[in-house]
Amino acid sequence: MYVARVFLAGVGLLLAAGGCAKESPKAGQTAFKRADGSRPNVVLISIDTLRRDHLGCYGYPRATSPRIDQLATEGAVFENMVSSSSWTLPAHAAMFTGLADTVHGALEITSRLPDDRVTLAERLKELGYTTVGFFSGPPLYPAYGLGQGFDAYVDCTSYPELSAQSAVAGVTRGGPLHHAARKDITGPRVVERVQAWLSGDTSRPFFMFIHLWDVHPDFVPPPPYDRMFDPDYAGTETGEDFLFSPTVNPAMPKRELEHIIALYDGEIAWTDAHVGKILDDLDARKLRDSTIVMLLSDHGEEFLEHGSKGHRHTLFDELIRIPLIVRYPGYIAAGQRYGEQARMIDVVSTLLALVNAPPPADVMGQSLAPLFVGGKLAGDTLAISELFSYGHQLRAFRRPERKLIRDEQAGRLGVVDLRADPGEHKPVGDASSPLVRAALHDGELGTKWLDDFKRIVPRTTTAPQLSDDVRRQLESLGYLRGKDE
Ligand SMILES: [Zn+2]
Repeated sequence: MYVARVFLAGVGLLLAAGGCAKESPKAGQTAFKRADGSRPNVVLISIDTLRRDHLGCYGYPRATSPRIDQLATEGAVFENMVSSSSWTLPAHAAMFTGLADTVHGALEITSRLPDDRVTLAERLKELGYTTVGFFSGPPLYPAYGLGQGFDAYVDCTSYPELSAQSAVAGVTRGGPLHHAARKDITGPRVVERVQAWLSGDTSRPFFMFIHLWDVHPDFVPPPPYDRMFDPDYAGTETGEDFLFSPTVNPAMPKRELEHIIALYDGEIAWTDAHVGKILDDLDARKLRDSTIVMLLSDHGEEFLEHGSKGHRHTLFDELIRIPLIVRYPGYIAAGQRYGEQARMIDVVSTLLALVNAPPPADVMGQSLAPLFVGGKLAGDTLAISELFSYGHQLRAFRRPERKLIRDEQAGRLGVVDLRADPGEHKPVGDASSPLVRAALHDGELGTKWLDDFKRIVPRTTTAPQLSDDVRRQLESLGYLRGKDE
């Protein structure tokens, strides 16, 4: 459902005017209009659970990401990209809709992105794009509404019966699908299906969404990635059952935790190699110059930085600060790095601007494309991250220099000075300090923004469309208990 623009007037300065790319010399043409009038292809790669700070192009010392690093040198890198949440479903829903989590409505594993939310795939389809999505983890199942707008939405898990919502007899806790998602190795399957699709007719512009799951726990990369970053380890940690293993706890020996992280890094290197195969395939088909590649993740992962592990439990930066890389040869200068804060809700507007489409009015995000032509962002860059799942009711209001985290249920809040305390361990104690006052103002501003948009894009149904069998299986996989996805 498209919201008439007339309703959007007067919503406030935070409403970004997306797609404000600096005009080229020819009146009426933007910098992203292609000379032959064609539209570029769009490949959107989401690597689940990938921490920004574990990539070489973001300063990580290990060689986890040679292919992503290469992509970064060929395109633009955003230093301050913030997700809408710390887990998979709401983050992808924000990526696809340009709306904050409590506005798009897909907040819980039992909720669904309402059908009347307009997705990026739907917008691009309306522009004449062929749309295809490849997903490889449970929260991307069509049952959650994320397949809206895709001509084909391809299940790349090894247990596709789960996503089909059909009854699967005999699967209970501890059954054959228990831990299936965590043990699944999906990279080769995704690449194979992407390549098969690309071998077909690509004469029309296409939008391809690719979701890669293998960085998500468990951390069991295949050889040689299993020993790549810790070849001398002789202990007993395997990376299996990371989320529930009692030996992975705040009191564990540092050496053992180092090994777990080395396995996580191995998963990144393994996945990076698969990203490389996809990029190579685009090159082999001579699609590089006509294709925008955007790579990001949905959230990060905690390795006991704040006393816990996994994701979907806090809104600290190890979970919400994510990578964002955009390559578009000829239109985005290679090697650019931007310090402006970018947000998950900006993905839709940015990609629409890059394909030279009119800016969407019914989204909360703004286009980052003006930066690519030397311009400035049109609107505020305040990032709102939310976690309304598994009993949490948390909101974070972030700017590159400060963050307010509010527990909406308990009525508690904390402010951190991200310049002085990037690890977020020492909340600012002086309530009268300018930084705290500014952060509290961010909270007021952001709350009003959310309230305004909830009126503009009223919440309809988020009723789950999960069968009892699927619900039982999700429970057996641990999803209804929380702690991951
Ligand atoms: Zn995820």
